[in-house]
Amino acid sequence: MENPLDQTRVLVVDDEQGIRDGAQRILSRMECEVLTADRGEKALGVLENQAVNIMLLDLKMPGMDGMEVLTRVRKQYPDLLVIVITGFATLETAVAAMKQGAYDFIPKPFEPDQLRIVINRARERLRLKREAATLARERSKTLLDLDTEKSRIRTILETLPDGLVVTNTQGQVVLMNPAFQWLLGLPPEKGPGEPIGAYVNDKGFGVLAGEISSCRLPGSGESRSYEFSPADGRYLMARGRPVLGEEGECLGAVINVMDITPMKVLDRLKSEFLAKVTHELRSPLSTIHEQLALVLREMAQEETRNEQHILFRAKEKTQGLISLIGDLLDLSRIEAGAVCQTPRPVEVERLLAGIVDFLGARTRNRNQTLTLKLPAEPLPTVIADPVALESIFGNLITNAINYTPDGGLIRVEVRQEGPWLEVQVIDNGFGIEARHLDQIFKRFYRVKTDKTRFVTGTGLGLPIVKGLLDELGGTIAVESETDKGSVFTVRLKADRAGANGK
Ligand code: ADP
Repeated sequence: MENPLDQTRVLVVDDEQGIRDGAQRILSRMECEVLTADRGEKALGVLENQAVNIMLLDLKMPGMDGMEVLTRVRKQYPDLLVIVITGFATLETAVAAMKQGAYDFIPKPFEPDQLRIVINRARERLRLKREAATLARERSKTLLDLDTEKSRIRTILETLPDGLVVTNTQGQVVLMNPAFQWLLGLPPEKGPGEPIGAYVNDKGFGVLAGEISSCRLPGSGESRSYEFSPADGRYLMARGRPVLGEEGECLGAVINVMDITPMKVLDRLKSEFLAKVTHELRSPLSTIHEQLALVLREMAQEETRNEQHILFRAKEKTQGLISLIGDLLDLSRIEAGAVCQTPRPVEVERLLAGIVDFLGARTRNRNQTLTLKLPAEPLPTVIADPVALESIFGNLITNAINYTPDGGLIRVEVRQEGPWLEVQVIDNGFGIEARHLDQIFKRFYRVKTDKTRFVTGTGLGLPIVKGLLDELGGTIAVESETDKGSVFTVRLKADRAGANGK
């Protein structure tokens, strides 16, 4: 029944044997497959069993005449091209046949060339029809694919438990999902189209969204996060990424918003618990420590070296525990926002000179050199709590001393870098392997190597430094190489009035 598309099958319907044979001869040479019928009824029978592309149809035949065959064929096989064969005398009938839907006509008797021209024209028509059908099929498939893809993405967005908002480069909302509307308490009828500030009433969020949307953040492509609390006591975390086009051009931002209230509550409970426990532990431990010191002093004259050693170790351990408790309490105070409460202009170079002087005794004991390098020009002040600054630099310089072997070199350098006051603590000590570098600011993280194993510590110094710098709006970065040394770089906002005032 099926006819391969590239082969033309022609059915010649004529009661004259000569016409049928002639047409067959010519058409076979044109690489058509030819079928014949000498009556209208027979032709319809052939069509029932075989797919035919072109029908050459004599209008004047005994029995069912051509017009009748044409009417039925048009109804049943609308794609079949019918070319009517007419005698000159029946030209009018040919016109009527064309009106009935015949594709073309050829007068009888015809020259071979005439037949070839008519058949080629019909073939061309068939080819164009096939091409149009293929194109239409492809187009509807693409549209269908697009539609499926679109509705899949829409479903994913709508069922996403996290809020999602997409902005253009001007920071206008172009898309948001229901979770975003719910988290931000927006009415369901509020549609996209307005600047992000009309949806999220938080200045910091607006600034971040604006910067990400226009790809103004350094290190574009990385995601940035921001925590904020809408008025209802919930905590939300927004994480945004710029969207870049194929050629790296900025298209806008995708911002994901999560409800982190339960995590915050747990975190607060944990901090309160820790603060309580450490507070309760501090005084009995201090008492034990002092009593041990007293016993040791009294034993000094006696010849009980072994007991003395045991007690000395016990005293050392209690000192370790007291430092740990001190660090934990510092951390809970930082988390509760209870530090950096009395900011005032601080001359960092003087503060550093004091710390270097104080820790100098320790470095001298170990044959280390500790230097402070200041620029020739005066430095701006920094508006901060001096106790917080002492804690930051005290921790960093103590670490440099602890993690540098005897005879090593520790340099503290200060300079102004644009709006920042930069302090670097540089040592030529044990260094830190690259894989630990982003971990050392986490609580209790200590790098244990053969060389650092004997250094006592709590693993809380750097988290305290980081926490304080976050509070102060400063930054810290570290570069290090094993056995070569480390550079910790702190940046604090310089006070403009201080800089100009000098
Ligand atoms: P602590 O010194 O009490 O162990 P910190 O939080 O101050 O805790 O430091 C965490 C870890 O980072 C240390 O255990 C050490 O392995 C590493 N570290 C910190 N400073 C230096 C440094 N200057 N040189 C080498 N390693 C360091």
